[in-house]
Amino acid sequence: MSFEKLNLDERLLKAVAACGFEKPTPIQEQAIPVILDGEDLMGSAQTGTGKTAAFVLPILHQLINRPPVKKGIGPRCLVVGPTRELAQQVEKDTTTFTKFINIKQGSVVGGVSYGPQIQILTRSLDVLIATPGRLLDHMGQGRVDYSRLEFLVLDEADRMLDMGFIGDIRKIVGAVPEARQTLLFSATLEGPVLRMAKTFLNEPESIQLTTNQQNHDQIDQRIHWADDVKHKHNLLRHYVAEEELSQALIFTATKRGADELVNQLNRKGQKAAVMHGDLRQSARKQTMDEMHHGRIKLLVATDIAARGLDFKNISHVFNFDLPNSAEDYIHRIGRTGRASASGTAISLVCRKDWDYLVSIERLTGKKLKRDMIEGLEPISKEPKIRSTLGNAGRSWKPSRRGSLKRRLR
Ligand code: AMP
Repeated sequence: MSFEKLNLDERLLKAVAACGFEKPTPIQEQAIPVILDGEDLMGSAQTGTGKTAAFVLPILHQLINRPPVKKGIGPRCLVVGPTRELAQQVEKDTTTFTKFINIKQGSVVGGVSYGPQIQILTRSLDVLIATPGRLLDHMGQGRVDYSRLEFLVLDEADRMLDMGFIGDIRKIVGAVPEARQTLLFSATLEGPVLRMAKTFLNEPESIQLTTNQQNHDQIDQRIHWADDVKHKHNLLRHYVAEEELSQALIFTATKRGADELVNQLNRKGQKAAVMHGDLRQSARKQTMDEMHHGRIKLLVATDIAARGLDFKNISHVFNFDLPNSAEDYIHRIGRTGRASASGTAISLVCRKDWDYLVSIERLTGKKLKRDMIEGLEPISKEPKIRSTLGNAGRSWKPSRRGSLKRRLR
């Protein structure tokens, strides 16, 4: 399918072409028509699937093709996401797609000064991108006028729940007009996220990417069994030196682990930077800029810090520690092989990571390739798998709920 078939405004198509996007990704192909139709939507899509464009493009289309409910101050569209990095990413993508149209956007996120944000909120605005805490701060001071609001997007809803934002989100949803179009994106659409979607969305369409689309089949996924942390250090140094690598993200389980790993790498002459929640905003921003400009080759990060980061040249993702949820694994490796490019994901697995590996292989329905590096072979053996692939092949098909009633606005 081509972008032209999606009935988007010519000026948006021009901006899409200028980005070099040749065809829509699966989530874009499925979500854009639903959103253009005015339906509420819940979509399971991770960062890396093109989900930002999947909601930004059809919202922009509607913003430029119909008049606002009324003139005055306040946003017509509000996008709420868990971290300022994600918010900045959405802001950046929106700027890219508004190259040929006149759209006013602003952001209200934590960790930066209030002054410019207060200014933004006193203007008429098309798109406001926010993190929950700071937005509520402003709302508490009576600074946010939602009377013009037509669209609400809850991005990475699962993370917002994990980070304890449910109360904040309730307050935000309670403050915006009921007659609106609501979109919710999340890595998974189960349990609490599903309950949240049912409460905040009106007869939503549901889009779930099939397993293959989520599994990142374009990514070469391998594991290497390790005896202990020291062995992992040796393996990582080998991979970093030997693999054809443009930029790599290396995940650790803890901030302390991240610091230790960076020190190790730097001591051995493999220059690396670190990104975790204890760093000041200015240091995080500097590291992000250096990554974007290719001045950093190795970035060691924790999951939370890496959330929403979008670097285009990541050729490799290393899991120094495996994440304790299989969804996080899929999310992490999605940092390489963006959109249509290929990439490599290598996980270093020792006894303590074993259960996590089992659940990853169960979720993805496939056994990951085992690497063995000459001279760095493990002494210990990987345990035998019981029936790891019990649920293998269970695929999520897009479950579109037929013809849902069009909302009256
Ligand atoms: P996202 O999932 O929104 O974080 O997007 C992941 C990356 O894919 C971003 O760098 C986008 O610029 C890129 N991207 C989004 N849509 C497309 C597309 N249709 N073709 C190629 N790249 C895309």
